[in-house]
Amino acid sequence: MPASPTSRERLWLAFVNADALASFDRLLAWMHAAGVLDADRHASIGRRATLQPAAAAAALIDARRMYAALRTLADRGAADLAVRDASAGEINRVLGRSTGVRRLEQNATGAWRRTFSTVGDAFAGLLLPVAESAADALVSNEIARIRRCASASCGRVFLDQSRGGRRRWCAMATCGNRAKVRALRARRRPAHGERARTRSAA
Ligand SMILES: [Zn+2]
Repeated sequence: MPASPTSRERLWLAFVNADALASFDRLLAWMHAAGVLDADRHASIGRRATLQPAAAAAALIDARRMYAALRTLADRGAADLAVRDASAGEINRVLGRSTGVRRLEQNATGAWRRTFSTVGDAFAGLLLPVAESAADALVSNEIARIRRCASASCGRVFLDQSRGGRRRWCAMATCGNRAKVRALRARRRPAHGERARTRSAA
């Protein structure tokens, strides 16, 4: 199942963290879960993908290309200007070819949101909200606070909003706790030499 981003997670980071590129259907499902596509658009683009499988396949390849650029931006963009430049080129590629209609809409619960409906090629503007979200990170210089989770087996990226800017884990409840438990076990387990001494003393 695609993970739904929390309200505090930026869309482009959610895209990088999601496992959403195995198929075009999976990508659409993630976009729907992330709130980028409402149910109607999810269904209509899904139907169009069935009718135009080559276009859908091309859109998926495009999404993977975007993913690679944003993954690199999230992993290394905070420290590396060349990475930021290269990513900006990729973001501009997506921003530049999207034409459509912007609207302000209200959902069933009364919450307002901005929407963007593409005109012409339905697949072309699909990644626009993700590209805009990444563009915002550069405009606001939030990019300096993007971190990769310190757990080697995790790979998730996050926005460090802590005051000191020293947050290490994507989530304390998962990776942070696992690291804490490991550190605790390491402290309790005496070192080899120590154990030998304890045994010989007994
Ligand atoms: Zn993690």
